[in-house]
Amino acid sequence: MAAPLSYLGVGLDRPRVGVFEFTSCEGCQLQLVNNEATLLDFLNLIELVNFREAMSERSDDYDIALVEGSISRADEVARLKEIRTNARLLVALGSCACFGGVNQLKNRFGDLDWVKKKVYGDFPIASQEVRPLADFVAVDLMIYGCPPKKEEIEKVVTNLVVGKKVAMPKYPVCMECKANENICLFTLGEPCLGPITRAGCDAWCPNHRRGCWGCRGPAEAANVRELEAIMARHGFSREAMLDRLECFGGFSSQVAALRGQPRRPRKARSSKRS
Ligand code: SF4
Ligand code: SF4
Ligand code: SF4
Repeated sequence: MAAPLSYLGVGLDRPRVGVFEFTSCEGCQLQLVNNEATLLDFLNLIELVNFREAMSERSDDYDIALVEGSISRADEVARLKEIRTNARLLVALGSCACFGGVNQLKNRFGDLDWVKKKVYGDFPIASQEVRPLADFVAVDLMIYGCPPKKEEIEKVVTNLVVGKKVAMPKYPVCMECKANENICLFTLGEPCLGPITRAGCDAWCPNHRRGCWGCRGPAEAANVRELEAIMARHGFSREAMLDRLECFGGFSSQVAALRGQPRRPRKARSSKRS
């Protein structure tokens, strides 16, 4: 008898899915439940067994873990490792999970105790340097964005269920922006990271006359030096560019190179299957 079909270790039946969050605003999870037009069809494809934001049942028996949020406390590390042990496929959902997201902005301050004091005053809060999931466990797939497009989350999960390849765009946001026939924001006097940022959001921000802040991280072969030249031609400083590059954490290695800082070593990376 032929072996049951599977993709990335997940059987092509209705996979059991758990949705989890760490340090986050829960906006990525909201994208999942905020798609009324297709939600019921989507739920027919999977069996949700653990999703604190949407249901009261809890199960540790799941095939796919969609994990939102970055890691900023010691107890989160232990819980993340437990989820990794339970799941056959762990998906980092959103910029916080993939790169640290907006939470990692606090890492820019050298003295994290000072930050804690400023934010929480005299309340004792256990908080440490913010790190992405892949610094602690193997991550099989990343769904980029802050938040990711809900259509993209559904597409990735659907592909997993039906056994189709999951492929993220490698080209930059500019390609989608041009296809949408937007006027380039640089000509309107607004900086934009579209030339170096991974597409897949359909140029969400430029479509609404907002410059890209790079929430999906770098496109393949992102040329930051060339972006710096474009910025300079339009009167924007290197600091203005760095300010955007640092916002979501996806460009941390490029920022370190520009600032002449050593690159931070990663503890664990990408797929447990690699
Ligand atoms: S990636 Fe953005 S939307 Fe998702 S949890 Fe983080 S801050 Fe919220
Ligand atoms: S607005 Fe941004 S994304 Fe659009 S073409 Fe200009 S630089 Fe590229
Ligand atoms: S345009 Fe840039 S900042 Fe906006 S959603 Fe797309 S990748 Fe993120």
